[in-house]
Amino acid sequence: MNKPVAKLEPESEVSLDPLAKLRDPFPPNQVSKLPKETKAQKEEREKDRSKGINCNICGGWHHKNTIHLDYVGHAALTDRLLDVDPLWSWEPVAFRDGLPAFDQTGGLWIKLTVCGVTRLGYGHAAGKPNMDPGAREKEVIGDALRNAAMRFGAALDLWHKGDLHAHEEEPTPSLEERAVAHLKACAIDRATFKDGWEKNKAGWEAALDRAAYARVVAEMKRLAATLPAEPEPPKEEPAADDFGLADDEIPF
Ligand SMILES: [Zn+2]
Repeated sequence: MNKPVAKLEPESEVSLDPLAKLRDPFPPNQVSKLPKETKAQKEEREKDRSKGINCNICGGWHHKNTIHLDYVGHAALTDRLLDVDPLWSWEPVAFRDGLPAFDQTGGLWIKLTVCGVTRLGYGHAAGKPNMDPGAREKEVIGDALRNAAMRFGAALDLWHKGDLHAHEEEPTPSLEERAVAHLKACAIDRATFKDGWEKNKAGWEAALDRAAYARVVAEMKRLAATLPAEPEPPKEEPAADDFGLADDEIPF
C-alpha cells in the first residue's frame, strides 16, 4: 500500500551538494606553515648568519623576520577528498609516451574528479639541489591537486586572505628598526653620529616602549664604539655636575 503523500520525507537530512563539504574550513592541526623569505632577507641572512633563526614555527632555518603562509598539505587535502567522495580521482590532462605529460617548465595540468564533477588544476614546483629522484614530480602532483581542489573551494579561506602575495611586499620596518637604520647611516664619523643621535633621541624615547628604546640605546653604544677617535679630541675635564650622566648619554 502506498504511503500518504505527507509522509514522503527523506529518512535523514541529505545535503543537496556533497561538494559543499570541500569548502569547510580546515582545522588548525591540518594547516601547515610555509616560510616565505624575501630575496632581500635571503641575501641579508647569507651575509650575516646572526640574521637567521632556527624557526620554532616551521622548523626551518630562515631570516628572523620571515613571514609564514598558511597552507593545507597534500595529506590533509587527500583526507578531505576521501571524506567527500571515497571514489575521487585525478588524471593528467595529457600523456606522452604513456606517461603524464609534464610541460616544458616541469608543470602538470590535471583533471580532478570529485562526486562526478571534473575540474582542471595546474601544479608546479621548483627543483632543489639534492632532491630525491621523483620528489619534484610528487610535489608537482600535490600542488596540482591543491590547485584543482581550490576550484571546488577547498581551503579557499586560506587563499583569499591575500597572504599569497604578501611575500612580494617588504614588511614595513618598525620605528625601532628605522631608528637603528638611521644610527647605522649616521655612523660615518663622531660628529655626524652625535648629531643623528641628539636630534632624534627624545622623539625615539617618547615613541618607543622602554625595552625597544633600551635596545636602540644599546645599538647606539655598540655603533659609537666602532667609530674611530677624532684626531685631536679636545678633552675637557668633566664638570662636577656631569658625573651623574643619564644612561642614554653618548659615550664620548
Ligand atoms: Zn619558520
